[in-house]
Amino acid sequence: MNKLDFNGVEYKEMETQILDTIDRWVEKDVRPIAYHFDQLDEYPIELVEQMKELGLFGATISQDYGGLGLSATTYARIVSRICEVWMAPTGIFNSHLIMASCIQRGGTEAQKERFLPRFATGELRGGIGLTEPDAGTDLQGIRMVAKKDGDAYILNGTKTWISNGVKGNCLAVLTKTDPTASPAYKGMSLFLCEKSEGFTVGKKLKKLGYRSIDSAELIFQDFRVSGDNLIGGEEGRGFAQVAGGLELGRINIAARGVGMAVGATKMSLAYAKDRKTFGKPIAQHQAIQLKLAEMSTRAEASRLLVEQAALKFDKGERCDLEAGQAKFFASEAAVQNSLDGMRVFGGYSYSPEYEIERFYRDAPLLCIGEGTNEIQRIIIAKQMIARSEC
Ligand SMILES: Cc1cc2nc3c(=O)[nH]c(=O)nc-3n(C[C@H](O)[C@H](O)[C@H](O)COP(=O)(O)OP(=O)(O)OC[C@H]3O[C@@H](n4cnc5c(N)ncnc54)[C@H](O)[C@@H]3O)c2cc1C
Repeated sequence: MNKLDFNGVEYKEMETQILDTIDRWVEKDVRPIAYHFDQLDEYPIELVEQMKELGLFGATISQDYGGLGLSATTYARIVSRICEVWMAPTGIFNSHLIMASCIQRGGTEAQKERFLPRFATGELRGGIGLTEPDAGTDLQGIRMVAKKDGDAYILNGTKTWISNGVKGNCLAVLTKTDPTASPAYKGMSLFLCEKSEGFTVGKKLKKLGYRSIDSAELIFQDFRVSGDNLIGGEEGRGFAQVAGGLELGRINIAARGVGMAVGATKMSLAYAKDRKTFGKPIAQHQAIQLKLAEMSTRAEASRLLVEQAALKFDKGERCDLEAGQAKFFASEAAVQNSLDGMRVFGGYSYSPEYEIERFYRDAPLLCIGEGTNEIQRIIIAKQMIARSEC
């Protein structure tokens, strides 16, 4: 199959159709259920079936393996549109596609043929298992060990905070195949693990926000996985395989931030035009206008940063700095716009009956996932310094 021309007329027409379809789906099927499912922290099974039909589980998987083969730009626009209304559903396919991209970029041809078509349909669904109780930012400090046993490996350890950990049926798991390696990353390997004996859910974790999508502690106890599931077929590549997906991962989080920043702005504007105090809509009070102006500017700046990073990614250009800047700025914008939105809504913002309350609980996650914003700033600065020395 020919490589897709992301700027071609046919691709642009397809993108327009996809985005229109997403917009209709969000209004018809996502918005009406968000309150109920968020409040009960219930998994939206019907929504998942609709996501399968929409092709979202294969959005960025190559058409050669049954996916839609969308550009990062289109994908980011899809994610933003959904997050304007409800962020949680995007996690069901975002983490899954990070797992898929580990295979697409680093897997052997046999692994691509074996897994990617089943990922694309959503038959196999999952995410990425990096974090452990004692290691999140410092991934080289993980304790999960994979010990070779004939043609297989035996995994022992615990992963935590894993998105799709309960409802998913597989996971890309970061392990240490050589715990004595120095530096540690040289002894790290990634395995694609399908749930079976020895790979169990410890517990589903309770959360402030980002509800409905499950986050879990996962326990691996003498879990036997075939050597064929070692991603890339060679030990010691796991850390690089994970790090290699960070640019797309950060664009993805940034796109969520754009959606939330835009969504908070839209709902605040609508409320401000409707709510009256002292005989006029609060939108006519200058204090509220200042907030609306700041919110819309932050949202638009975030959008432009994400578009810039995604465009570079699609052209195959280096975009670590741009993706990092987009992730940092857009996630902070989502948090600030949710907070400013609460001010606009006044007392009603404290009620879950108003969507801004959910935004306020969901947004902070964006500052933690795919590299905390503390680390993100350090990485941005290091890249600036390195590029200036080139
Ligand atoms: C809802 C949710 C879903 C998640 N989904 C997944 C998932 O699907 N898969 C997965 O593997 N993980 C997942 N995570 C885990 C997430 O990636 C980690 O929480 C994140 O990487 C931070 O790690 P930590 O929580 O251990 O914090 P720590 O690493 O302990 O950091 C604590 C604080 O110290 C700061 N810090 C740490 N090191 C430095 C340093 N060198 N310099 C400056 N500051 C530093 C951090 O920025 C942070 O502010 C999820 C987390 C949540 C809350």
